[in-house]
Amino acid sequence: MMRLPRFRYLAPRTVREAERMLAGEGPAAMVVAGGTDLYPNMKRRHQMPKVLVGLRRIERLHGIKGSRAGGMWIGPATILSDLENHTVLREHYPGLFQAIHSISTPILRNMGTIGGNVCLDTRCNYYDQNYEWRRAINFCMKCDGDVCWVAPGSDVCLAVSSSDTAPMLCAMGARIHLASEDGERAIEAKALFRRDGIHYLTKRPSEILTGIEIPPAARWRSTYRKLRRREAFDFPVLGVAACLKFEGDIVTEARLWLGAVSMAPVEAAEAQAALVGRPLTDESMEEAARLAYLLSKPLDNTDFGLRWRKEMTRHFVVEALRELRPA
Ligand SMILES: Cc1cc2nc3c(=O)[nH]c(=O)nc-3n(C[C@H](O)[C@H](O)[C@H](O)COP(=O)(O)OP(=O)(O)OC[C@H]3O[C@@H](n4cnc5c(N)ncnc54)[C@H](O)[C@@H]3O)c2cc1C
Repeated sequence: MMRLPRFRYLAPRTVREAERMLAGEGPAAMVVAGGTDLYPNMKRRHQMPKVLVGLRRIERLHGIKGSRAGGMWIGPATILSDLENHTVLREHYPGLFQAIHSISTPILRNMGTIGGNVCLDTRCNYYDQNYEWRRAINFCMKCDGDVCWVAPGSDVCLAVSSSDTAPMLCAMGARIHLASEDGERAIEAKALFRRDGIHYLTKRPSEILTGIEIPPAARWRSTYRKLRRREAFDFPVLGVAACLKFEGDIVTEARLWLGAVSMAPVEAAEAQAALVGRPLTDESMEEAARLAYLLSKPLDNTDFGLRWRKEMTRHFVVEALRELRPA
């Protein structure tokens, strides 16, 4: 049985208090929300914080506000089940709903939060193992070692961004609010992620996610498609997040992001451009899928063969776009 290492748990009631605790404890401290990612990681000795600052009692970090027309505000400590059951999100932000609904199991969604999902640790077959397994291969660059076993010549860790909501929030143009003792700031969701399996977030360790701002749904249509081994529950090995806006049958704006094929969500910019200014036809969907396929470069460090996963990008993009085609 894997046991948690010893740690001190602090339970602030306000964001200010949490900020102070994080600043005071320095690198020994980490934030925990639902713990569904962090606690298993601690059991595997990936992270060994001496202090955990729990966010669950901070009222300001919970809840969902807003409307289709005005946009939504989501508290990062909101559990995934509450988001899944929220009528406005379900009806007007179907892509985000699908991404959330596809995360893990109902039991985990009752515990796991959206903030934790956004900040989810990157994953890799050489990393998501217990301490003894990792020691047997002399560890890896992401934790305790210095070689990337996926590509031993690589200077950067290639662990994969495996959050389902991350590519969707990027595609939706969400904004992430952050706070620390040094002040508050808001950044675009896409600016939160970095193509580095170790330092995969641009937020500072002392910064807490305090809000997720979702733009008005307006005329956006959205969807999320996920490839995984078990439909019942599994991390994505490919995620396709698509948002399209139409005027009549013409696509006026397109956003297409790929998840789980790199260390950060990937914007398929050329595929987006190929869709805009014309109706969504079989040809335009195939062209966008081909361009997204070229960009999709999965590595041999998660489930399934990498060539097949790459090939599936083409099919998943077409499926996603077909779902968004006006009737
Ligand atoms: C069996 C299993 C299956 C899973 N399947 C999926 C899946 O299919 N898709 C998927 O995306 N995830 C999956 N997960 C991962 C996880 O359950 C979810 O991502 C969940 O949403 C994480 O939220 P949490 O609140 O439990 O995060 P925690 O474990 O509490 O935290 C995760 C990370 O986020 C940081 N963090 C949390 N909240 C904040 C905040 N407000 N500010 C700053 N940092 C913060 C923590 O410090 C930690 O680094 C799975 C997990 C398990 C165990």
